[in-house]
Amino acid sequence: MKKTNIEWCDTTWNPITGCLHDCPYCYAHGIARRFGTFGEEKSAYEFGDDFIEEFHVNNDINKPIMAVLHENPEKEPYPFDFFPTFHRYRLNEPAKIKKSRTVFVGSMADIFGEWIPDEWVQEVFKACEAAPQHTYLFLTKNPTRYGRIVLHEAINPYVKQTNSLEHIKIHDMMNIDDIRAVKNMTHQENRIRLQNEGYKMSVMKSAQNWMFPNNMYLGVTITTNKQAEKRNYGLSSRAQGFLSIEPIEEKINLEFDEKERGFIKLVIVGAETGRRKGKIIPKREWIADIVNACRTAGIPVFLKNNLAEIWGEPLIQELPWEV
Ligand code: SF4
Repeated sequence: MKKTNIEWCDTTWNPITGCLHDCPYCYAHGIARRFGTFGEEKSAYEFGDDFIEEFHVNNDINKPIMAVLHENPEKEPYPFDFFPTFHRYRLNEPAKIKKSRTVFVGSMADIFGEWIPDEWVQEVFKACEAAPQHTYLFLTKNPTRYGRIVLHEAINPYVKQTNSLEHIKIHDMMNIDDIRAVKNMTHQENRIRLQNEGYKMSVMKSAQNWMFPNNMYLGVTITTNKQAEKRNYGLSSRAQGFLSIEPIEEKINLEFDEKERGFIKLVIVGAETGRRKGKIIPKREWIADIVNACRTAGIPVFLKNNLAEIWGEPLIQELPWEV
């Protein structure tokens, strides 16, 4: 874990690095390329099995390389450059720090990208649960995965208790043909099927009141209207979310429906940094529109320092996790 200059948190933690979204403005990719050591002499890769648990080179263009490290001999931050890498040896870092921090998890990755295995994400969640003194902030460009993971997390404890995952699978496969088939079953088969049905109902009932831990915030990055339209979390009110509109690339038409008003706790707005050719300088009215939409919905706003000149008045910088 490292102290950071990112204004809406105080620490970054990168148990997973690397991302395949390929955003043109990505600062993380530049850093990983600069400090990456993949394939170089003395890199973690060269140290081989003693340190690397898994290493896959796939033909699948969406998962070209995936690596899991349980140790990092040279303490290299990016032993596989910007390819998805699980630094398992970093999982205990939050637990070692006793004083409460606001932690941006995965500043060098999209840990909810489709290429990241569920197990990696679950291990990160477990590490967060083991250090509840901190506030954890996640960000993704793939928010629909939140819904799937949160639902899984909600149901999982009950499944574990009874070790009956198969029952849920059986129920999920039920359709009208299954139901017809049930009618033709023997008495014994029917009884088992009805037990499974009852089991599933009780699991869902128990999971209904389950909430994602309230020291974890699930954020979504949007930079354009197209992304804003697809910002479906699939979360309902089981978790707390936030939006990061950074770097803002155009005037975004933002409206929050009733559901979002319930679980979006903050909107962060920022401009692109660096000197990239083609970098977009936002207009004041783009920012004002977002602030107005947030005010109408009663959602706090955080305008990053790099908007100070464009905004021209004291920046609004509200952080719900600091209240
Ligand atoms: S999603 Fe984030 S980490 Fe991934 S390429 Fe885009 S800016 Fe970089």
